[in-house]
Amino acid sequence: MFSSRCQRFTVDAKSLLDCVRYFADPATCRAYMRQIKWPGGKILCPKCGGANIGQIITRHLLKCRDCKKQFSYKTGTIFEDSPLGLDKWLPAVWAVANSQNGISSHELGRALGVTQKSAWFMSHRIREAMRWKQGTS
Ligand SMILES: [Zn+2]
Repeated sequence: MFSSRCQRFTVDAKSLLDCVRYFADPATCRAYMRQIKWPGGKILCPKCGGANIGQIITRHLLKCRDCKKQFSYKTGTIFEDSPLGLDKWLPAVWAVANSQNGISSHELGRALGVTQKSAWFMSHRIREAMRWKQGTS
């Protein structure tokens, strides 16, 4: 997901805590992912590219009506295989992207309410994704 679109990671937040509050609402997270993953807002199937997408409201999953593929807002992103929610990941991305001197995993963990170990893993993965992006674009 961190192709050129990463640069559009703009949230009107002045601090990490601001950002955490902003993404505390799952609907906000999904709307945000939708904007990043599918510019223009039209959800496309990751398998067949179809646009005939239904929503499984109860589980916040998406389903392609053409090929029956089920996917989520995390599919195809660096968050995909993580049990941590977007409410943790999105502020973490913001923090890593916006901290000039890097953010410590202790600080990040405290702000997000996750363990230092989880915070370290997240920031590591986010930095990897950003490095990869810079190296290929
Ligand atoms: Zn499909």
